[in-house]
Amino acid sequence: MRKFVLLFLLTPAAALAQAANPLPKPELTEIWSPVPPKVEPGARLGDPPSDAIILFNGADLTGWESTKGGAAGWAVENGEMVDVPKAGDIRTTQKFGDMQLHVEWMVPVLPPDRKGQDRGNSGIYLQGLYEVQVLDNYDNPTYVNGSAGSIYKQSVPLVNALKRAPNWQAYDIIYYAPRFYADGTLAEPARVTVLLNGILVQSNFAIKGPTEYRGVPIYKVHGDAPLLLQAHNNPVRYRNLWVRKL
Ligand code: MG
Repeated sequence: MRKFVLLFLLTPAAALAQAANPLPKPELTEIWSPVPPKVEPGARLGDPPSDAIILFNGADLTGWESTKGGAAGWAVENGEMVDVPKAGDIRTTQKFGDMQLHVEWMVPVLPPDRKGQDRGNSGIYLQGLYEVQVLDNYDNPTYVNGSAGSIYKQSVPLVNALKRAPNWQAYDIIYYAPRFYADGTLAEPARVTVLLNGILVQSNFAIKGPTEYRGVPIYKVHGDAPLLLQAHNNPVRYRNLWVRKL
């Protein structure tokens, strides 16, 4: 009845338009609260935003330790962390779960006899378990599920997005930790999206389990855990590492 009166009061053209558009008012699908928190972006793309946790202060290895226990054995030069031969893996003293991670890394120009997996190998282990590979395979054939941008031995990158050494490379990683039931069995695998130099190389990949050099990965229950950088006796350098907890 009400609709009939409305149509009667409108001009014939407006009534026809109203009758032809039965959709609800646009205001009914607007959301006004809660308002997302404001985060100030960094000055340049890749700079840490205002809510980032800075993992490396550029001066020393505060916030890092050796996975063997004790102080991290890597060097700091020019505001960069450098993998020193036989220093071993290092990890953050802070623990993380879901996160957005930014890491910049560089492999110097190495002699031509450094080939395959021996050319600039390192790695970023999410929660100390799941490796995003670091390697100079710009012009260096190797198994593709072990190339830069791979989830090592699990997922081949969509493209080779590397720059030629000794350029700096940038990873932006969106990571969701695995979920476990109370009995320790897997409820949801970890998920990872990776951009290498701003180019998508992993898109919401369901990680199969902890990175294994040999054999099949099998999940084991864990909680928040440190970020780990792999030592592989290559002078790989890192800078501008930051995390946003998700
Ligand atoms: Mg590696």
